[in-house]
Amino acid sequence: MRNLALHWQILIGMIAGCCIGLALNMAASERSVTLTSNLPTGVVEAEVDDSSSLTVIRYLVDGKETTVTVDPASRSNDSIRTYKQLAQRDPLASQIYNQHGKSLAKQVGDWCKKIGGLFLRMLQMVSVPLIITSLLSGILSLSGRVGVGKMFKRTLSYYLTTSLLAILTGLLLVNLIRPGLQTTNSVPAAAPTIDESHQTSLVDVMFAQIEAAIPSNPLAAITQPNFLSIIAFTIIFGVFALRVGGTTVTRLQELTNAGLEVMMAITTAIIRLAPFGVFFLITAVLATQGSSVFKSLGWYVLTVTAALVFHACITLPLILKIIAKRQPLEYARAMSPALLTAFSSASSNGTLPVTMTSVEQRAGISNRTGSFVLPLGATINMDGTALYEAVAVLFIAQLHYGYNLPLSQQIIVAITALLASIGAAGIPHAGLVMMVIILQAVGLPLEMQGIILAVDRVLDMARTSVNVWSDSCGCAVVEALDSQTSTAIEPTS
Ligand code: ASP
Repeated sequence: MRNLALHWQILIGMIAGCCIGLALNMAASERSVTLTSNLPTGVVEAEVDDSSSLTVIRYLVDGKETTVTVDPASRSNDSIRTYKQLAQRDPLASQIYNQHGKSLAKQVGDWCKKIGGLFLRMLQMVSVPLIITSLLSGILSLSGRVGVGKMFKRTLSYYLTTSLLAILTGLLLVNLIRPGLQTTNSVPAAAPTIDESHQTSLVDVMFAQIEAAIPSNPLAAITQPNFLSIIAFTIIFGVFALRVGGTTVTRLQELTNAGLEVMMAITTAIIRLAPFGVFFLITAVLATQGSSVFKSLGWYVLTVTAALVFHACITLPLILKIIAKRQPLEYARAMSPALLTAFSSASSNGTLPVTMTSVEQRAGISNRTGSFVLPLGATINMDGTALYEAVAVLFIAQLHYGYNLPLSQQIIVAITALLASIGAAGIPHAGLVMMVIILQAVGLPLEMQGIILAVDRVLDMARTSVNVWSDSCGCAVVEALDSQTSTAIEPTS
């Protein structure tokens, strides 16, 4: 098993988790008990009927009978949909259920969720230092390059434009296809039961994002953690370090690169645990929710793939054709070694040497442009990742709430997805690590990530190819724009 490539191990973990979870759900998700002893003080008798679709708890206190129902599929504001809500609304019923009423499938599912949660916690653990070192190292790599001001601006504009276009494509498709709502037919189109805290105006939302981009205390932002503040401050710090220049920037660069190397090693080690993480999390999901999850996951994979294909085959080629005046098919053929390496390695950083060689030797881009645009792009330009983050979070929200997030929340998702893609390191599953940022921004439970973990590797391969394809197109665009203006460009070699 150890010699097997990681994605095969993850697949095995996933299949094993699916089988065990499904078997448990089918064989042991129903439980019906009448209890007369070992009950919380004051309760004389209790009855629990538990199944994966509904839990009913009846109990008798002072001759008065109370019936509480937990219905995950309910769309009404007054109903109890989760066991967390049950604990808040009726602690007595919750205590009876937790002590005596859970079906075996739910008991095992809860334990698996706890163990799988350790894996998600480890991903959370590395996210802050990984973002800071990865982003800073990308920015500091620009040090010592003369006459790059204009090129920097163009490159940055290209990165931001294409990433935003990718996010828009993702949002559009996830709103159209609604992968997380495919299992329930009675779901309303709008979001009538949206919770109060989410009902802020668009201006408030935008302003809150701007405020977050100016942290009043960057160290507090790290401990919270507030990712938007962290990314904004890291960019400011990097840019001004470049301005200070000299030995300051060289020393910083050494330190950052060393830090990044260590963080990459830790992340890679954690990702090696992914097969176990996937196993426990998928077992938990299937044991408690049954096979309906598959239908949603299929729609989710389809949505991400369709959006990636649209961005890679329509948006980017159009930009390539109109701005860079290059034949998209020919260019793609020239870049094929890099695209295939990206697909099989799921790492933009790992693919970087191949991307640079392909761009310069096969696509005829100058070394000056390639060596500037690509290393920066491998770190901060991730169209595929940005798109994937947006789709994944909206999918999770659809599953969790049973409806689409409102526009103001979708804007937060778009902005944070952009930042998450900028902050993501170019290594396998980095997008998964960064998703915490967005889930946190829109108040979704982090453990919902467990549902999509199972299909992350295959989507990672696809989105990494799109990341590298966008970096490559960026070279052609920047080169074309630079050659149009004869100023500022001196050959380096
Ligand atoms: N694996 C991607 C990359 O290296 C990042 C991600 O996980 O989205 O480009």
